[in-house]
Amino acid sequence: MKKAVKKNKNKHITFLYIPENESSVKTLRMTSWIPKIIILVLIATLIYASSYTVAYRNLKDKYEISLCNIQEITTINNSQKIEIERLEENAQKIQEQLCENVNALQEIKELVGIKDDNTVPSNIQDNFSNIYQSIPFQPIVNTNNTNFTDHIFELKTSFVSLSKVAKSQKTAIEDSAKSIKDRVAYLKAKPSIKPVVGKITAGYGYRKNPFSGRGSEFHKGVDFAAKRGTPVMATADGTVTYSGWKSGYGNMVIISHGYGFITVYAHNSQLLVKIGDKVKRGQIISKVGSTGRSTAPHLHYEIKLNGKNVDPSRYF
Ligand SMILES: [Zn+2]
Repeated sequence: MKKAVKKNKNKHITFLYIPENESSVKTLRMTSWIPKIIILVLIATLIYASSYTVAYRNLKDKYEISLCNIQEITTINNSQKIEIERLEENAQKIQEQLCENVNALQEIKELVGIKDDNTVPSNIQDNFSNIYQSIPFQPIVNTNNTNFTDHIFELKTSFVSLSKVAKSQKTAIEDSAKSIKDRVAYLKAKPSIKPVVGKITAGYGYRKNPFSGRGSEFHKGVDFAAKRGTPVMATADGTVTYSGWKSGYGNMVIISHGYGFITVYAHNSQLLVKIGDKVKRGQIISKVGSTGRSTAPHLHYEIKLNGKNVDPSRYF
């Protein structure tokens, strides 16, 4: 019995290697648990290798997904960055445009002598600069960056403010444009040049009677001595309301300019315009003569403002 137990404990296994040639048979004898251990080790190795392969594949998949995500985020970030830069550029352009508008408007107003009382508020530029400079522009790191959202929000807010500024400025510019248009129309209508090249021989006001030499009379205009045929010019834009003979005045032209201004050109030798003609300042309307109550070739020139004669020499 003891022998049997011992025999079992010393159980061996023998591997035989039988070559096909005539070499001797080779044997490998080992304790029976060794092959079991070898098999177990092989199985363990296989399981480990399989697990490792699965884990590697999972990791690789995750890496590739992450890489895709990073690329997507980078693309989004780049497009957002471009969008922000574009918005920034637009804001800059609008700012410059608005400031240019204000400056241009101011220059025009100063040029035509409009007082700065009801047009563009002077603090618009300052307000705008403050709005714009308050926008923080920084590089975008990722889509979850709260700074980015804040920037967009502030940008949109600033654009709303900008829109309001632009709107008020547009209204101001339109108002100013109307004032400028009115002013230009007034300046065009206001007599502002001498009607003829010649020496002034009689001014506006009381003077001795040029015919009798006795007593005085009120001279309603200014006399310019000039050779017969010298061109006579309209002293402002207007419409011819009379062109013909009138007792005392001879061949006469009357022009209505608007804004209460009327000019009179008398003693002409020749009339070159007719009633209803639109004339421009400097346009030749007649030629100097000595028709009517006149002693020598000259132009009698009058200006009426709101129906009353005024001194023409104040309008040269
Ligand atoms: Zn006169």
